Amino acid sequence: MNKIEHIGIAVKDIEASNILFSKLLNVKPYKTELVESEGVITSFFIVGETKIELLQAINSESSIAKFIEKKGEGIHHIAFGVDNAQLEILRLIENGFDMIHQTPKNGADNKLIAFVHPKSTNSVLTEICEEKSK
Ligand code: ZN
Repeated sequence: MNKIEHIGIAVKDIEASNILFSKLLNVKPYKTELVESEGVITSFFIVGETKIELLQAINSESSIAKFIEKKGEGIHHIAFGVDNAQLEILRLIENGFDMIHQTPKNGADNKLIAFVHPKSTNSVLTEICEEKSK
């Protein structure tokens, strides 16, 4: 893993949170993206070398809706950048981690992503993401 690519934060109202985080970080989101497969709207802020991703559920089946129901708003996941998501998944499986995704899938912001189950990472939901070649 080569860096913290972003930190994902679950929010109830992304419009309001975009305004809040724009004030907090003193930068506007550089993109807002609907990820229908995940049932979320996301927005991204650049903060130096890393990013903040806000996530709002668009339906009650979304994992973000379930997370907020259980734990409330707040830090949802940490995403690490990797050069090759498929190789990293294999390395993690070899090392005994429980992968939610065994193969990389399309994520927001032009990334191939996979999640590691929090039960194998001290309850920290962990994402790996590879920048897709453009
Ligand atoms: Zn993420």
